[in-house]
Amino acid sequence: MAFQKTLKAPVIVRGIGLHSGAPANLTLHPARANQGLRFVRTDIDPEFEVAGHYQNVVNTQLATTIGRGKVTVSTVEHLLAALAGLGIDNVRVEVDGPEIPIMDGSCAAFIDAILQVGIQIQKQPKAVVRIRERVEVRSNEKWAIVEPSSRLEVQSAIEWDHPSIGYQEFQFIEGVTAISEFSRARTFGFLKDVEALKRMGLARGGSLENAVVLDHALVLNPEGLRYPNEFARHKVLDALGDFKLAGVAIEGSFKLHRSGHDLHRLILAEIFSNPDHYEVLDGAADENQLSRPEAVVLGDLISSIA
Ligand SMILES: [Zn+2]
Repeated sequence: MAFQKTLKAPVIVRGIGLHSGAPANLTLHPARANQGLRFVRTDIDPEFEVAGHYQNVVNTQLATTIGRGKVTVSTVEHLLAALAGLGIDNVRVEVDGPEIPIMDGSCAAFIDAILQVGIQIQKQPKAVVRIRERVEVRSNEKWAIVEPSSRLEVQSAIEWDHPSIGYQEFQFIEGVTAISEFSRARTFGFLKDVEALKRMGLARGGSLENAVVLDHALVLNPEGLRYPNEFARHKVLDALGDFKLAGVAIEGSFKLHRSGHDLHRLILAEIFSNPDHYEVLDGAADENQLSRPEAVVLGDLISSIA
């Protein structure tokens, strides 16, 4: 039986928001067992709080955004990937604006900061859901499948008609894959898209400091890639982060093809739409954790970038 985890002490991380380009200050606080992940906007009076849960996802364009009503927190997925990689369950995430800082476009800075204070093991067992039946969601040529397994596995494949990307894949296997095999994989984008986003007032903080940027043929970052298949590794990082929004640990084998934040949210919704798809494992059962979100705003697409 695995036990829940939190932080030994508060962690402060400072950076900038990818879209606003403005300073973004993050404080991660230890939280009690069964609290899960709570996101708090400290720049709003009274403070705004929302559960880190897939049912609170309000936008999946460019990044995963959670929120309620018009108040949102965007780009949560890389921080969540760090928490997933470290197996941390309970954290109060305070941020002083609408975006989690982008750092270098990977989850390495969050991991480094958390490891500096250390991880606290708690007395309560982790809530674990094991997949019992194959579940699949599709959107044109993109798909996401999960099948039964006794551990979390996430395989992601991408296919881009681009000389520096092409077909590539990477697989994470719980207990086998080291965090360092994906933690430094950066988000990526194309120069023409970055320029278009900037004209729309988005990606103002975007630069070669926090993304791999490609032109029609080449990677523009002078330092090159951090892993030969950095793009596929980042897709796995994104998926691990998004799947953290299940609110419970999942034992199942995911296969993702050209997947993104939208399909990640959809497959979680599909899994939990039917109790035949999964079982809550003994010793970790807390039904409250399956129905934690206080507001359901699925499909309510609100722009996170004001
Ligand atoms: Zn990402």
